[in-house]
Amino acid sequence: MGLIVQKYGGSSVADGERVKNVANRVTECYNAGNSVVVVVSAQGDTTDDLIAKAMELNENPSKREMDILMSSGEQISMSLLAIAIERLGFPVVSLTGWQAGVETTSAAGNARIKKIDTERLKRELDKKKIVIVAGFQGIDKYDNITTLGRGGSDTSAVALAAALHADKCEIYTDVDGVYTADPRIVKTAKKLDAITYDEMLELASLGANVLHNRSVEMAKKYNVKLEVKSSFERIDGTIVKAAIDVEKMLIRGVTRDNDVAKIALIGLADEPGVAFRVFSLLAKEGINVDVILQSIGRSNTKDISFTVTKGNMKRALEILEANKSELGANEIVHNDEMSKVSIVGAGMASNAGVASTMFEALFDAGINIHMISTSEIKVSVLIDQKDAEKAVIAIHDKFGI
Ligand code: ASP
Ligand code: MG
Repeated sequence: MGLIVQKYGGSSVADGERVKNVANRVTECYNAGNSVVVVVSAQGDTTDDLIAKAMELNENPSKREMDILMSSGEQISMSLLAIAIERLGFPVVSLTGWQAGVETTSAAGNARIKKIDTERLKRELDKKKIVIVAGFQGIDKYDNITTLGRGGSDTSAVALAAALHADKCEIYTDVDGVYTADPRIVKTAKKLDAITYDEMLELASLGANVLHNRSVEMAKKYNVKLEVKSSFERIDGTIVKAAIDVEKMLIRGVTRDNDVAKIALIGLADEPGVAFRVFSLLAKEGINVDVILQSIGRSNTKDISFTVTKGNMKRALEILEANKSELGANEIVHNDEMSKVSIVGAGMASNAGVASTMFEALFDAGINIHMISTSEIKVSVLIDQKDAEKAVIAIHDKFGI
């Protein structure tokens, strides 16, 4: 018994049957004696469809109106779920983000939750109601409706769990947990019982695509116990928490991210301030740089290579070309047929040889490495995209996970 926040993703509420299924699961949790707050996403592809409708009318709509439009998807889900729960005879109320007290920054389309005024929520819970909250949205200090960025309902759920000091936050989705690799690529991939916040953060940002990155950051900050589980099957999912026994498993997972492009500046002057000039130009434009490699200087020149997302490549090239002579680059080259393949595991911090095992797997598979980057709990390599799936399988095999 306790306070449980459940979040159901778009595929879990995609149609009437699925909404009924969610209504059953929610009321079961309530019947077991829990206070239940439910966060919902928009049904199926609703958010994409709404965006497409707007684009038909205006290719450059204001972010304010887009936020109002996009937030409507979650309002449909929340009311339909409440209506289905009413039918089952339970006390229920649905609330929009602002009714639930979710206050955000004014960054339309990508707002961050500043605080949650839980008064209304608590009042409804005190009345023993099941409370359904629209995910992905809030309100800023000018009373404008905002949205939290694509996939943001996870963050709504974790923020509510933190604000209400919930005992647990369950994220229901169409997969039954977090796997050691994408099961569509690696047939032997296994579901993890548990994973740490830090590992999950690395996996989320590496393209594992299970949880919204910010939701994991927030869960870590407020120590919210998360469980990722299936809304269709009744089986345990994967728990995300602060620490787990790393002895058993050196590597928690292998991931692949195809959204990478490499840019290289050839023949830069080998003198102080060059890297600063290059990356400050990009930073000014808000372009995030990931892996960076600088070659050893030879005959007074050096090369700097780095990666950006594919969507940022064109803009980055334009900026660098425009400043080519000022930077003193002989040549600027790029390649957007690359992948970043990474291994993640808290266990590697205290175990030597993990990176070399990964490199050996790639060598055995005849795959060339273009760039390498490491952190305490992660090793990433940049390779040709055509080799990426083969690499993931070879590495997963090598570690015997
Ligand atoms: N409906 C929103 C989206 O598709 C938010 C979410 O699903 O979490 O991005
Ligand atoms: Mg999602």
